[in-house]
Amino acid sequence: SIPIHPVSQQTRSTCPYCGTGCGVLIGSVGGQIVSVQGDPEHPANFGRLCTKGSTLHLTAAASVTQQTRLLRPLHRAQRGGEAQPIAWDAAMAMAAERFADVIRRHGPQAVGFYGSGQLLTEDYYVLNKLVKGLVGTNNLDTNSRLCMSSAVAGYKATLGSDAPPACYEDFDHAETLFIVGANTAWAHPILFRRIEDARAARPSQKLIVADPRRTETADMADLYLPIRPGSDVALFHGLLHIMLAENLVDHGYIARHTQGFEALQAVVAAHTPAAVAETCGIPVADLLQAARWMGGHTPTLSLYCQGLNQSSRGTDKNAALINLHLATGQIGKPGAGPFSLTGQPNAMGGREVGGMANLLSAHRDLGNAQHREEVAALWGVPEVPAQPGLTAVEMFEAAARGELKALWIACTNPAQSMPDQATVRRALERAEFVVVQEAFATTATCDYADLLLPATTWGEKDGTVTNSERRISRVRPAVPPAGEARHDWAIFTELGRRLEALLPERVAAYRPGVGTLFPYAAPESVWLEHRESTRGRDLDITGLSYALLDTAGPQQWPLPEGGGSHGQQRLYADGRFPTADGRAKFAAVAFVPPKEAADAEYPFSLNTGRLRDQWHGMSRTGTLGRLFGHVSEPAVDVHPDDMQRLGLTDGDLVRVRSRRGEVLIPALTSGAQMPGQVHIAMHWGSEFLSGRDAGGERLQGVNALTQPAFCPTSKQPELKHAAVAIEPVALP
Ligand code: SF4
Repeated sequence: SIPIHPVSQQTRSTCPYCGTGCGVLIGSVGGQIVSVQGDPEHPANFGRLCTKGSTLHLTAAASVTQQTRLLRPLHRAQRGGEAQPIAWDAAMAMAAERFADVIRRHGPQAVGFYGSGQLLTEDYYVLNKLVKGLVGTNNLDTNSRLCMSSAVAGYKATLGSDAPPACYEDFDHAETLFIVGANTAWAHPILFRRIEDARAARPSQKLIVADPRRTETADMADLYLPIRPGSDVALFHGLLHIMLAENLVDHGYIARHTQGFEALQAVVAAHTPAAVAETCGIPVADLLQAARWMGGHTPTLSLYCQGLNQSSRGTDKNAALINLHLATGQIGKPGAGPFSLTGQPNAMGGREVGGMANLLSAHRDLGNAQHREEVAALWGVPEVPAQPGLTAVEMFEAAARGELKALWIACTNPAQSMPDQATVRRALERAEFVVVQEAFATTATCDYADLLLPATTWGEKDGTVTNSERRISRVRPAVPPAGEARHDWAIFTELGRRLEALLPERVAAYRPGVGTLFPYAAPESVWLEHRESTRGRDLDITGLSYALLDTAGPQQWPLPEGGGSHGQQRLYADGRFPTADGRAKFAAVAFVPPKEAADAEYPFSLNTGRLRDQWHGMSRTGTLGRLFGHVSEPAVDVHPDDMQRLGLTDGDLVRVRSRRGEVLIPALTSGAQMPGQVHIAMHWGSEFLSGRDAGGERLQGVNALTQPAFCPTSKQPELKHAAVAIEPVALP
């Protein structure tokens, strides 16, 4: 794009939207961002940007002109009252005192912290240390729980570690690409461009897409599998059944590098092509074709995202797909591997620092006593608590029951994005004290805050993020913070120091020489501590530095000390896995259908997902009219037969009802839906998509309808499936 203004300064940074992690060049003049271009040297995008990324400078400007930024701390003396300005010092004193008071009265388990996959790695690290090292609870979870916790659990259950083994360059080497549960064309547009390029350069490459919706991604497929919602495990077992029958597995690889294949064979025996065709709604001939393209010795790369993850069986779905790669030996070599795509820009960084309720620093596990001891030693605290923390849904359910007294929410909008909104709103109302640390004043969650703390955002922030292919990129500030906004890591650092003063008994237990857990003056000092925590771990980055990122550009982990100046493209090339015996584990999981089946009262299966040009709750993208050019208003997408049966034409208003609430929304037919299935985009909240809970309380957005059921292993909620009814609404 051609800058409107002459650029006096150009800053190399990273796009803050999806997990592709594109590099950007930010142009600024006199402290104002005036342009953005794709960074031609960034190995994720090589100069390209999608519509969201290429308008970052415009949304940055719009958020200022439309006054949607939160520019100074605000205090609400009474719930529902007007928030009044308060000085930073007084705001932080109040926040620390209220949290310390709850901890003194009810213990550390009575507070909860809820963050975001959009926090930088440095922000995440300080928050994790604050909650688990100082406060003494593991009640720290983030919206990444809604995004990729099933991918984490799936990798760990099979490969022994949360490490995506492939890289973007593998698109070019694959003979078969299998995209399942992902609309890459919309959710990761620049990756989709790279896939288009790969297909153009390699005409023999086959693309298989399995999705309940006929998306733009599915339209490009050589073979489209219109899978019934939630039946992924049956599909993957069925494909393995065929591969076994047709000798398309690699018995040598299985014998040398895996364990547990016999148990899996016993499970997949019942998944005959006929049975799977019935369960999944896919013709037998297409199942055979898919298995033949994916099996054998030519490289196969699987790409997957929320369609597998956001499920009450998310871990099983991930593991069953990884089974296919282990059975065929399609992992650890060019063009092959199970490659989970991350939704958010730094979901991976959050995983690396262990910034979730069940994780610890550098891919350590909270449930592992030795790992807890190692992290306690690194931090200089007597212990890391063993009691599991509350995950996202559990945290808000506990607060709704009155068990969590104080909530700290940073860089996310649970009052729109969490499932079962009625419970989340009750939680926010019932908590004694709610802090919202945010860049934008317009989120629904801000309305529930007792204290609002202004945070910096893209263009102002400084630190690192990690994208889907394990690549660490620098995020650099181009302009000073807007208004009185402060960096997230700095806010957590100050909260930590104030809590140390208010909870001296905890400081007294620190190991000798540890004066404060929060000695940080800059993000680099945080990152160096994080780096040290990775020493000897699978994600070892002790050979990396901010300086090397400046000179050699973004790098993939691992990059251990003495490992040269470039990270590792692929993992498991030698067939050794980070398990006790070095072998990967097959997962003999059973197929279990979605939690809430459609029935006579709620006959439709509701799916939710992203649009191409919007991001999450629209706090940034919703400020720019241009980004509504693709899709201008919310709608429920319905199959033409169902429209006809309900007596609807495009644009008619309908009431979509679930057991938890309802929304009023226009109906339309895009051609993507199967009969009996409907779809609503996740982005609209606020006044755009009004609804009510079962008790008549006003709610907004599609999550008035969604259910809180979650995967028993990953605790990721089933946002891709809820049973709903649709009724025409007669207008006066
Ligand atoms: Fe940003 Fe993702 Fe678009 Fe790249 S593909 S420009 S990271 S939104």
